Amino acid sequence: MNTPTAVEKSHEILRLENLCRVYRSGDIEVHALRDISLTIEAGEFIAIMGPSGSGKSTLLHTLGLLDRPDSGTYTLFGRDTTKMDDDTLATLRNHLAGFVFQQFHLLQRSSALDNVALPLVYAGRRQKKDRAEKRLAEVGLSHRSGHRPGELSGGEQQRVAIARALVNNPAVIFADEPTGNLDTKSEADIMAVLKDLNRRGKTIIMVTHEKEVAEHAGRIILMRDGKIVSDEKKAAPVPGDPPPAPDLPDRGAGRIAFTDHLRQAFASVFSHKMRSFLSILGILIGVAAVIAMLALGRGAKSSIEESLKSLGSNLLAIRPGTSIMRGVHTAGGDTAQFTDADVTAVAKLPSIRYSTGMVGGAGQIVFQNKNWSTRVEGVGYDYGVMRASLPVVGRWFTKDELRRRAKVLLVGTTVARELFGETSPIGKTVKFNRINFTVIGVLPPKGSNAWRDNDDVVLMPVTTAMYRVLGKTHLDFMYAEALNQELMATAEQEVGSLLRTRQRLSRGQDDTFTIRNLSDIQETLTATTRTMGILLGAIAAISLLVGGIGIMNIMLVSVTERTREIGLRMAIGARSRDILMQFLIESVVMTFWGGLLGTLMGVGTAMALSHFAGWTTLVGPDSILLATVFSVAVGIGFGLWPARKAAHLNPVEALRYE
Ligand code: ADP
Repeated sequence: MNTPTAVEKSHEILRLENLCRVYRSGDIEVHALRDISLTIEAGEFIAIMGPSGSGKSTLLHTLGLLDRPDSGTYTLFGRDTTKMDDDTLATLRNHLAGFVFQQFHLLQRSSALDNVALPLVYAGRRQKKDRAEKRLAEVGLSHRSGHRPGELSGGEQQRVAIARALVNNPAVIFADEPTGNLDTKSEADIMAVLKDLNRRGKTIIMVTHEKEVAEHAGRIILMRDGKIVSDEKKAAPVPGDPPPAPDLPDRGAGRIAFTDHLRQAFASVFSHKMRSFLSILGILIGVAAVIAMLALGRGAKSSIEESLKSLGSNLLAIRPGTSIMRGVHTAGGDTAQFTDADVTAVAKLPSIRYSTGMVGGAGQIVFQNKNWSTRVEGVGYDYGVMRASLPVVGRWFTKDELRRRAKVLLVGTTVARELFGETSPIGKTVKFNRINFTVIGVLPPKGSNAWRDNDDVVLMPVTTAMYRVLGKTHLDFMYAEALNQELMATAEQEVGSLLRTRQRLSRGQDDTFTIRNLSDIQETLTATTRTMGILLGAIAAISLLVGGIGIMNIMLVSVTERTREIGLRMAIGARSRDILMQFLIESVVMTFWGGLLGTLMGVGTAMALSHFAGWTTLVGPDSILLATVFSVAVGIGFGLWPARKAAHLNPVEALRYE
């Protein structure tokens, strides 16, 4: 077991005792390592040889802390590694071990320099560039530091890999068939580099099946069927001080900087520009649609509110007939018929300020050779004040004109424009339904909405409209204005009971009229807006779901595609949570871009709609915030599974993944 004396005895750095490793696939057991015991001293250059399948790689992976034995102990610098957790092993790999693989395992989309600097990222070190440059110079590749692996020869790539293995100044270099993929010339180069490193005190453990390569080593261990069959020392270890037992950083120390995570995520997302763009398209379109629709919805709401305001405040609308909303419309005979006397009686109620009757219809207005079809409204004297309709040009009709059914009228701005163009209509004589009228005023503009132009109207005294133009004996409508907002309920009640009395309704009888106040209308509006909001929310949810699935799909592909990269990162010291963070941040970066571009597109669409279609739109900062938060949440939500999948990969299997 792990005793301090074992370390002090010699320059021993690692010791295996009765180590076994069994692979189980189904019922079949493969004993890859059987009862291996071995000590290795500082400064040794060891070649592990043996036929294929004899357990060389398994031994190297176990020594390099990439794999765990099933039984036996492995003591490294006096510490028992078999009881360590995965994070500690990752940290040890990062600080103590440097790996060189047959397949080089360089990141193809990063420069040689960035490849060399990668272990420093996981060590949380600063001045990564300087250290990496120094190591690259040591293997004679300073002049190729900006090149990508694809632009380097096999020998050069392997030298980059050696520089990467050295960058954290590890105690041991583990090399798995380092010359297996190289021509003879490059093989000689690499062996020279390794020998030189050994001469300078580095411990090197190398797996090879080539005799000539093994010749360079000072100790050759021969394996067969998971056992060491010979262990031959040709040269003494390079003399030197025993390497100090390395300080292991505390847990959590050497944490990889967030900016490094971000940089890596951006590099990865932008190295597949087209693919990343296509996969964020779902999010992009979803966010854009939601923002544009929210803007439209709000625009509509605000313009409706605007026109409600122009109706006047504290207003009660009273119309004959029962409310359809309350139930079945009962047969005729129980519909109130309002007259001027009702209006006067309502106006006398204590809670009421004004009241007016109203009739409506349609007609033709003719001026000289122009004629125009429009709406006509007959209204009471107080209507002008109540509904903010006092004319901007000209005057309102007088009480006297109302009494004598005078043939005067006021025109809305649309009518004024159509009939009179630029000239003033005041005092002009027009024909309305073949009756001569004098125009006395132009109404203030009230705007228009999708279904109605509020300025395409003619107003006249209600008496004139009823008896001279429309031939009606009763009012279509009454409006009453309460003294103030607080009195609305009282006013409604007073008007109701007054009208019931005047209509001679007995106790059990239903109302023959309906009173609505503006807050009813507002409530309807709120309800409509809420329904619209739910609808929008549903669309948003669906589009974000679809977008999220797109992201998840591409992240899963990416994890599979980069399995060997993940293995390599783990070998050089990435902990599970580093890999998790890497993939999570990558998917968040993608969805964030999707959200950002979608927001821009949504705002652009909203602006285009107001500019070209003339619709009112309103983009609130909260909808942008919502879009951002949602897209980031989608990134985390849908990126988590692929990221966990990546983080839980076994380093050895990941490295071997084809
Ligand atoms: P070498 O490197 O000497 O070729 P390995 O260490 O790769 O040998 O393998 C030793 C034995 O373990 C072989 O018989 C191999 O088939 C088996 N083996 C290696 N990895 C696995 C695995 N993941 N699952 C099952 N068997 C494995």
